[in-house]
Amino acid sequence: MKVVVKTLTFSTREKFELVNITDEVEKAVSESGIINGICLIFAPHATGAIVANENEKGLIRDILDHISQLFPPGKNWLHNRIDDNAHAHVASSIIGASLTLPVINGKVIRGTWQDVFFVEMDGPRTNRRVIIEVLGE
Ligand code: ZN
Repeated sequence: MKVVVKTLTFSTREKFELVNITDEVEKAVSESGIINGICLIFAPHATGAIVANENEKGLIRDILDHISQLFPPGKNWLHNRIDDNAHAHVASSIIGASLTLPVINGKVIRGTWQDVFFVEMDGPRTNRRVIIEVLGE
């Protein structure tokens, strides 16, 4: 079995933001040379998440608005006694920091309306990372 790892590094500009990493994921899979296997996409951050959904301006706003309503930064969170980002930790725990996609016949499989996004919930940040690990043959 072959394993190929690629790390993306980028900055975010907003407190809540979706960063589209679909092109980088597809490039990592095609450059890996792996024909059949899986692609793991992992954000090594306790205040970010990874999701797959439609890249539509209104929907992106809906998702971000809903996250900030479900996990309001201004709530009286206990973690905010020592930090100011409990909402983002809780949201990351619920949404999840990784996604696994199938790789079949040299292509990463996703739905027509499933772009891959890093979810920033404690931005802006200068050093966000996403690890893309492609495993297979
Ligand atoms: Zn914290």
